[in-house]
Amino acid sequence: MKAHSGEVGVFVRIRPTANFCPDLIECLPDGQTVTVRQRKDCRKPQDTRRDQLICWSFRLEGVLQDVSQEEVYARVCQRVVLGALDGYNGTLMCFGQTGAGKTYTMTGSTESYKQRGVIPRALQEVFREVQKRTGHFFSVHLSYLDIYNETLVDLLSSLQGSARQSPRGMVVTEEPGRGVFIRGLSLHPVHSEEEALNLLFEGGLNQIIGSHALNRNSSRSHSIFTLHIESRSRTPCDAKYVTSKLNLVDLAGSERVGKTGSEGQMFKEAMYINKSLSFLEQAILALADRRRDHVPFRQTKLTHALKDSLGGNCNTVLVANIYGEAAQIEETLSTLRFASRMKCVRTNPSVNEYSSPEAQIKKLKKEVKMLKEELSIFNTLANRPSSRLSEAQLAEINSQVRKYLDGTLEEISIVSIRQVQAVFSQFKLAVQKREKKEKSLICPTYNSVEKDQSAETAGIKKWGSTDDVEEGSFEASTPSQKNIKRLSSAKTKKSKDKQSSTRPKAEAFEDFKVGPGSKINSILKENKTVLLERRNLLRQISEEVNAVKREIDCFMQQQTGGEKGQYPVTEEPDATSLMELKGLYRQRYQVLREMKAEVNYCQHLVDQCRVRLLSEFENWYEGSFLGSKKELDLTLDKALKRGKDNQRPSELDPSSFHSFCNARCRMLKLRKTRAVSSTPVQRRLPKS
Ligand code: ADP
Ligand code: MG
Repeated sequence: MKAHSGEVGVFVRIRPTANFCPDLIECLPDGQTVTVRQRKDCRKPQDTRRDQLICWSFRLEGVLQDVSQEEVYARVCQRVVLGALDGYNGTLMCFGQTGAGKTYTMTGSTESYKQRGVIPRALQEVFREVQKRTGHFFSVHLSYLDIYNETLVDLLSSLQGSARQSPRGMVVTEEPGRGVFIRGLSLHPVHSEEEALNLLFEGGLNQIIGSHALNRNSSRSHSIFTLHIESRSRTPCDAKYVTSKLNLVDLAGSERVGKTGSEGQMFKEAMYINKSLSFLEQAILALADRRRDHVPFRQTKLTHALKDSLGGNCNTVLVANIYGEAAQIEETLSTLRFASRMKCVRTNPSVNEYSSPEAQIKKLKKEVKMLKEELSIFNTLANRPSSRLSEAQLAEINSQVRKYLDGTLEEISIVSIRQVQAVFSQFKLAVQKREKKEKSLICPTYNSVEKDQSAETAGIKKWGSTDDVEEGSFEASTPSQKNIKRLSSAKTKKSKDKQSSTRPKAEAFEDFKVGPGSKINSILKENKTVLLERRNLLRQISEEVNAVKREIDCFMQQQTGGEKGQYPVTEEPDATSLMELKGLYRQRYQVLREMKAEVNYCQHLVDQCRVRLLSEFENWYEGSFLGSKKELDLTLDKALKRGKDNQRPSELDPSSFHSFCNARCRMLKLRKTRAVSSTPVQRRLPKS
C-alpha cells in the first residue's frame, strides 16, 4: 500500500475453513485477484440453467488467504498507524458476514498472543513509536463506541473517572475545526500499551453479545475503537502541533435478514444492521462518484460517526472478510462487490496541523516587537516624527551608559533607532561633563567663562531669566578671585613663602588693575557694559517675538475652530491682519537673530579681555614679586652648566639642548617685557 496515496486500500481476507470450495473461490497467483463462481440462480431449483456458472473477478490491493495475524497487520494496518502518529487521520474497517473473521482480524484472540489482532498490534506500535520519537511529546486517548440498533453506547463508560453521560445520551456532532465527534463519549488517557489493552478488553466485555444462528459469539453491533493522538514538538518555540484520529471499526455482520432466520429481537437487530450497512454502501457510492457533491452521511449513526473517516483527509483501509464455503457464496459476492465500490473512493490524506495559542501569542509578540523596531527605523529614515521615549526608558538608558562607562556593563544591546539616539546623547552629555571637569582642574577661569556662556545660552532659550554679567567679578572677594589664586597655584607653590612675604595676590591684582593693567581692565569693563546692554535688548526683542507668535497662534485657532470654549469665535479671522502679523513676526525674528549674534560676539570679546587681563597680571606679578631677570639668567646658566657637567654625552643631544635653552630664554624675556608695558591689543566694542 502506497504512503498517503489518496486511494482506499482494500483487502480481502478469507477465513480458513475445512469446507473451502476451490471450484467457486479462486485466488489468482498475483495475490490481488479473487474469482468467484456462482451458479446462475442457485435459489431456484426449478431453473433448467441452474448448473450454469457465472464468474466474477475482483481485483483488490491484496488477497489474504492463510495469512498470519502478524502479516495482516504489517500489510493492512501498520502504515495507517504510523501515519496517525504523523498527524494523518486513519480508518481501518472490517466488513463481511457474521462469522467471516472481522472480530478475529480486529481484536483477534484474547487467549493467544500470537493470534492477537490489529488493534493490540496497533497499540503496541503506537507506544513503541512514542518511546522512539523523543523529539515529540505525545498524548494518547482512547474511546470505544458501540452502535447497536441505532443507539450509541459508550463501552468504556463504566470506567472510573468517566464523565456521566448526559440524560439525552450521546450525539454525533460536527464542529468547525474539530470535525465529527461524539458528544458525551468518554475519552481515556493512556500512557502505556498495557493501560490501552486493559481498556480494549474491558470494552470488549461490555459489548452486547447477541446470540445468533451462525455465530453465537459474534457482535450484533458496529464497534469503533478510536485512538486520539496529539503530538507536540519538545522545542519550546515551535507553536505547531498535530492531532489525529485512528478509527478501528468492526462492523456488524452484513448478511441478509432472511439468511439468519432470526425472529423477534434478532430480526430487529438484523434490520438495523442492514439499514446502516446499506446506507454505508450508499455513502461509499456517493463518495466514489465525483459528480456528486452530496453524500448522505447523516442517514444513520454509523455513517454520520464515520463521516470524516471514510473519505476526506483520511488514510482509509477496508478488509473484506469472506467465508470460503459454498453455502456462503452469495454473501461472499455481496461483500466483494462492496469492497470493489470502496476501492473507487478517493481520499485526500493531509496532516491535521494546528498552532498552540500560547506559543502563537509568544511568537506574534516577538513579531510585533520586531515590526515596531523596523517601523521606527523606517520612520527615522523617512524623517517622520516617532513617539518619544518615556521618562522610565530614558532613565534606564542613562543608567546603562553610566554602567558601560564605569565598566560594570560589557555592552549595550541595540533595541531601536530611538534607543541608539538616546544612548548617543547620553554619551555626549557624559563627555561634556567630563571635559568641563577636566578644564576646571586645568584652568579654573574657564569655570567663570563657561558659567557666563551657559547663562547666556539659557537666556536665549528662556529669555528673561538670564543672570547679568557681574561687574565685580574681578573683585578680590568674588569667586573669580579665588580662581586667579588657583590659576597660579602650580607655579607659585615652590615660591609660596616668597610670595606671602612679598604681597598678597588679591591686593596685587587690585594694584595691577589701577596700575599697569588699567588699560585692559577699562576695556574689559566697557565690553561688559556693552554686553549687558545687548542682552537686555535681546530679552526685549524675544518678548516681542513671543507676543507676535501668540497672536498668530490665536488667529490660527480661530480659523480651525479651536479647542472648545477656549477661543470664542466672535468674528471671522481677518486674513490681512494675519498676513501683517506674520510679516511683523518675520521682521522681529530677523532682528532677534542678529541681536543673538551680537550678544555672542560681545561675550567672546569679554572672555578674551578677561583672559588677557589675568595672564598679564600673572606675568606682572611673577616679575614684580617672584624674581628678577638676574635671577632667571642665573638659573639658566646653572641649568646649562649642570647639563654639561652631569649628563653623559650619550644622553645629551647638544643641538637639541641648546635649542631648548634658547627658546626658554626667549620666553622668559618676553614674559618680562610684556609685564612691564602691557599694551591692550583687544579692540574695543563699538558703543551703540
Ligand atoms: P465475525 O466477527 O466476522 O463475526 P469472528 O471474527 O468472530 O467473526 O470469527 C468467527 C470465528 O472464526 C472465531 O472463532 C474466529 O476465531 C474464527 N476465525 C475467523 N477468522 C479466522 C482466521 N483467519 N484464522 C483462524 N480463525 C479464524
Ligand atoms: Mg464479530
